[in-house]
Amino acid sequence: MVSEDLLALLVCPVDQKSPLRHEDDSLVCTRCGLRFAIRDEIPNMLIEEAELPPGCASLSDLECVKCGQAKIDAK
Ligand SMILES: [Zn+2]
Repeated sequence: MVSEDLLALLVCPVDQKSPLRHEDDSLVCTRCGLRFAIRDEIPNMLIEEAELPPGCASLSDLECVKCGQAKIDAK
């Protein structure tokens, strides 16, 4: 399990500010729904390896990307 302390520090790596929520074995962005798998108690925060939420075909469909503050190279 990821501790509450760590969870409080983590934000969505796409817009670098949206909080994440703990859900089963992953962390989910409360804004865009991007899902980050947790393995061996360490969340994998790589955007490229995160699971897209339903309805999103690519990273550029994410809410955190659309807000225009994304640091990723979405086209
Ligand atoms: Zn997000």
